Amino acid sequence: MVSPIPLIVKPTPCHRLERASQQLGIDLWIKRDDLTGFALGGNKGRKLEYLMAQAMADGCDTIVTCGATESNFIRQLAAACAVCGIRCVAVVMETPYEDGFAPPTTPHTGIGNPTITQLFGADIHVLPNGTWDALFAAMDAKSAELQRGGANVHTIPIGGSSGLGAYAFLQAADELPACDVIVCPTSSGSTLAGLQLAFEGFATRVIGIAADPEPALKDDVLRVANELRALLELPEVDASTFDLRREFVGPGYGVPSAEGDAALRWLAQTEGILLDPIYSAKAFAGLLDMAKRGDFNGETVVFWHTGGIPALWAFC
Ligand SMILES: *Cc1c(COP(=O)(O)O)cnc(C)c1O
Repeated sequence: MVSPIPLIVKPTPCHRLERASQQLGIDLWIKRDDLTGFALGGNKGRKLEYLMAQAMADGCDTIVTCGATESNFIRQLAAACAVCGIRCVAVVMETPYEDGFAPPTTPHTGIGNPTITQLFGADIHVLPNGTWDALFAAMDAKSAELQRGGANVHTIPIGGSSGLGAYAFLQAADELPACDVIVCPTSSGSTLAGLQLAFEGFATRVIGIAADPEPALKDDVLRVANELRALLELPEVDASTFDLRREFVGPGYGVPSAEGDAALRWLAQTEGILLDPIYSAKAFAGLLDMAKRGDFNGETVVFWHTGGIPALWAFC
């Protein structure tokens, strides 16, 4: 395993939500990866400490990735590339979707993450909206083109999710106090995969709340988890290992949901803490729903805040 390069401020705070706990009648804590202190925060800084170390070790001079226009990963990657003196190339679509799961068109200001990503000097190629598969193919084509031009290219998968990316979350689990339940948003899978492995064999439950509607999300999490296990020479697992809930996605990936927006406002007005509309607000809506159903009887629950605040400007 490469040694990580320091990018974020660790450990991030983890504190009790006093008013929220009282109102919900549960013992609720929050892990503040919105405060990773790098490029406006977020969970991707953790993965990037490893991914950039690997890129540097391999003598890479260009990183190519892809994502949605509002990608939090590309924002944090662009900053990490600036720090490491590596060219950052991102191929983006406004709201990519899985075939058959195209979301409704949503009003979008176009500012938020992309504005900031540009400040970090990333080279962004915007494609017409389409499927994830079309986006991945365009990313691969861009990588091949730059490689032919003589660049030493690393292609980093969507969201920085790979075994190495997930390893950062296995490490991050060491920052937590004792708890019974962890709730985190899930999209490209490394946060859930890393945390699940950290608590394997322990009573602590890790619940991922999906930000993507497609059932195949479970396969993405599984692939990342097994890549991580391969790195550590652990046996493979199957999809039943993960507690992944898909009922809080709302209209689709990259589109705010009514429940998420309500959860976002509730936390903002109860604790003065902001969530993002695409991932953490939907996950927090899931947590509120479980709390109301009495799923957390007497348990200590940690909500893993993954960041994403700049996206608030895209959907306000
Ligand atoms: C990327 C991201 C997630 C999802 O994390 P994964 O490890 O990709 O599953 C959740 N919240 C925010 C704000 C993100 O940017």
